[in-house]
Amino acid sequence: MRRGNSVKLDDGQRHQARKRFGQNFLHDRAVIARIIDAIAPADTQHLLEIGPGQGALTEALASDSARLDCVELDRDLAAHLESRYGGNERVSIIRQDILKFDLATLTERAGSLRVVGNLPYNISTPVLFHLIKRHHLIKDMTFMLQLEVVQRLTAKIGEKNYGRLGLMLQYYCQIEHLFNVPSAAFTPKPKVVSSIVRLTPHTVLPSPARDVSCLQLVIRTAFNQRRKTLKNSLKAIISEERLSALPLDLGLRPENLSLADYVSISDIISEQRDHEEQ
Ligand code: SAM
Repeated sequence: MRRGNSVKLDDGQRHQARKRFGQNFLHDRAVIARIIDAIAPADTQHLLEIGPGQGALTEALASDSARLDCVELDRDLAAHLESRYGGNERVSIIRQDILKFDLATLTERAGSLRVVGNLPYNISTPVLFHLIKRHHLIKDMTFMLQLEVVQRLTAKIGEKNYGRLGLMLQYYCQIEHLFNVPSAAFTPKPKVVSSIVRLTPHTVLPSPARDVSCLQLVIRTAFNQRRKTLKNSLKAIISEERLSALPLDLGLRPENLSLADYVSISDIISEQRDHEEQ
């Protein structure tokens, strides 16, 4: 039962949605069923749910998985879920901040984890960057995010939303925008449109860089000065002479370079650095 921004838990207690934890709880059963269909959990699989909250998705995930780990930061909601799933040895509730949680504590098996969640929108970008550090452990990730973030994730070269988030996540994953979810499906209603997105880590990286931290530096530096040409925005990290060794128009702006272009720039910088260190 819903009243204002508080929701009745199934032990009869009321929970007041906490804005600081990005709490917008799903209540629309048709939307919940559609998300579960998109995830398509199976009883042989290891699932990780981020921010289970009051368990809108958890019930179906728990009944259709070999193992379900849930990471929830809100102590009250975690306690509620612990009492609900305490007797189920396939389900564990981990009271922790996902940004401090290492996926490697759950499994060592490459490509085994299916990560899902209606993410707290206030930290969705740091969560994506955090998870991708363990991309080799992940089979796929299905998330609810705000539409604007999904547009950045799926943005193609030359598009308005093309930038650091999309490029770095596309480096590791194939990304599909599945469908939008109306605000009316949540309590309280978010002020933004929400979307379901699926990220599937590549088994073989399509454009591997010699050094990913160097690639990150190049992309960050380029997009910090979005309006400048390549030659000017990258001046601090690579000379014009070295840049001109690449078959690239140095008058281009950051949004006109492909991921493969950024990898070529990064490889020149890291090659030179390795050479100098020898
Ligand atoms: N899954 C529920 C649903 O769909 O109704 C709740 C989704 S709500 C948008 C986000 C959930 O993430 C909340 O339960 C919130 O307490 C939890 N949360 C917020 N920050 C978190 C963090 N840093 N680590 C883990 N969980 C977090």
